[in-house]
Amino acid sequence: MMGHERKVPIRTCVSCRESSEKKRLIRIVRCADGNVVIDPSGKMPGRGAYLCGAKKCTDSAIKMNKLGRALRCEIPERLKEELSKLVENEQ
Ligand SMILES: [Zn+2]
Repeated sequence: MMGHERKVPIRTCVSCRESSEKKRLIRIVRCADGNVVIDPSGKMPGRGAYLCGAKKCTDSAIKMNKLGRALRCEIPERLKEELSKLVENEQ
């Protein structure tokens, strides 16, 4: 890292396309075994997609299958429910 404090990882919400610091986004990862999970650590290996946490983004990402397209796989119902719960108090 060599002291580059300002060089924070930036990722893009799959729904609104706004960029934010990676740690502020919700990371959804497709694991090597094909399982799709929420990754609170941001460190799980696998293909990742990001949501900014806004409820409208999460809702539309689920409805329009934006996550499925980003991860190139089927998003399990269980994960959709988890995500909806996670953001139900957000704007
Ligand atoms: Zn968003």
